[in-house]
Amino acid sequence: MSNIIAIVGRPNVGKSTLFNRLTESRKAIVDDFSGVTRDRHYGKAEWTDKEFTVIDTGGYVANSEDVFEAAIREQVVIAIEEATVLVFMVDVTTGITDLDDEIASLLRRSKKPVFVVVNKVDNHQLENDATVFYGFGLGEIYTISSMTGSGTGELLDQIITHFEDVVEEENALPKITIVGRPNVGKSSLINALIGKDRNIVTPIAGTTRDSIHIHYNQFGHEFMFIDTAGLRKKTKVKENIEFYSVMRTIKALEEADVVMLMIDAEDGLESQDVNIFHLAEKNKKGIVILVNKWDLIEKNNKTIKEFEDQIRTKLQPFTDVPIVFISVLNKQRIFKTIETALEVHKNRSKKIPTSKLNDVMLPIIENYPPPALKGKYIKVKYVTQINATSPMFAFFCNLPQYIKEPYKRFIENKLREHFDFSGVPIQIYFRQK
Ligand code: GDP
Ligand code: GDP
Repeated sequence: MSNIIAIVGRPNVGKSTLFNRLTESRKAIVDDFSGVTRDRHYGKAEWTDKEFTVIDTGGYVANSEDVFEAAIREQVVIAIEEATVLVFMVDVTTGITDLDDEIASLLRRSKKPVFVVVNKVDNHQLENDATVFYGFGLGEIYTISSMTGSGTGELLDQIITHFEDVVEEENALPKITIVGRPNVGKSSLINALIGKDRNIVTPIAGTTRDSIHIHYNQFGHEFMFIDTAGLRKKTKVKENIEFYSVMRTIKALEEADVVMLMIDAEDGLESQDVNIFHLAEKNKKGIVILVNKWDLIEKNNKTIKEFEDQIRTKLQPFTDVPIVFISVLNKQRIFKTIETALEVHKNRSKKIPTSKLNDVMLPIIENYPPPALKGKYIKVKYVTQINATSPMFAFFCNLPQYIKEPYKRFIENKLREHFDFSGVPIQIYFRQK
């Protein structure tokens, strides 16, 4: 289950401007904390309570004349396979170009919904010029101005009708995936865990060829592996390897309950890893960090602690995440990865009884109440866990609008201190009572 919008189109039509508009508010929040400058081309956005991931395909094309047309064509093909909805962006000021026509002919073969979005329609006069784009034969056109945002609401209203609702099956097996940059050791780990022993691998009927679900049932553990197989499927254009791998990662991540983010011990946690981590966090997935190739590191008794500290610093503010140091090569702690992922899954599914929650949290709040604002005191009456797939807590009080971020963080830390939510993002709401 994934809801991914891919914005395709030739350079300079305004793809990244739209991307920034859709993901802006969240980007600001994330960048504030991490202090890492990141070149992001995908991110989480929401419209009328529906969340989705947006990917700006343009961010992955090297702008050198000889490769880019082929690269763009290939990207469109990949996006058609991987995305839920395609936004085909064109520029009203240039009309239809040859490359637009080529992209359109690829998109006409898509079985996925395609939205022809005519950008730079900054005023009403330009609405007329936009009608030429009906010539693609791709149905309705949507005129917008990414710069001012006009028209984007109407566009999103239509796009979200194509999203699937997240339905949680009762008693479904935990779904676990491994993501990470190329060559960190993901396939080696999957091979080590599953091996060539086909007895434990049950192909699941109805799974699509692009997301491979492997039923793992061995050594007392049962879960579903979401393999990002096909990651190696050859992209003809070198520049698209990263684009393809990002599309696959986003998809695996959206389908999973727990994400094992694997990094290479020699490289440490890089900015792309931090991006994936934040995406998993925003998707409210369980997270485990795997530091692989531990065999290549010279160690003393402080090494693990130093590594952990370095990683957690980059993960701020969400640092309550298990980190497992492994060597797939030496088969060191490879089963610990599964055990940890399943523990995180348990934490994510945990329901704390209301009475217990109040017994623990109300005295804490009594001792450190939210700071009074404009002479008004905030009184928290009770707290309850909301029935949801990942932990969410509602604190009922008289003046919820006066609760500030630092107090929410204080409450979150206390919840984490008293109940084990290791590896799990938690949501805290203050509501009127
Ligand atoms: P991309 O290469 O498709 O990602 O295009 P960009 O988002 O980088 O935009 C290319 C240029 O078009 C930039 O100079 C933008 O400022 C400009 N642009 C983007 N959206 C609009 C718009 O709605 N109206 C106008 N007039 N210019 C825009
Ligand atoms: P993937 O692209 O993330 O699936 O990575 P692979 O599983 O293909 O591994 C990339 C390379 O790293 C291969 O040459 C592996 O043999 C090597 N590798 C994997 N795990 C380890 C490890 O624990 N230690 C060392 N030294 N090499 C490893």
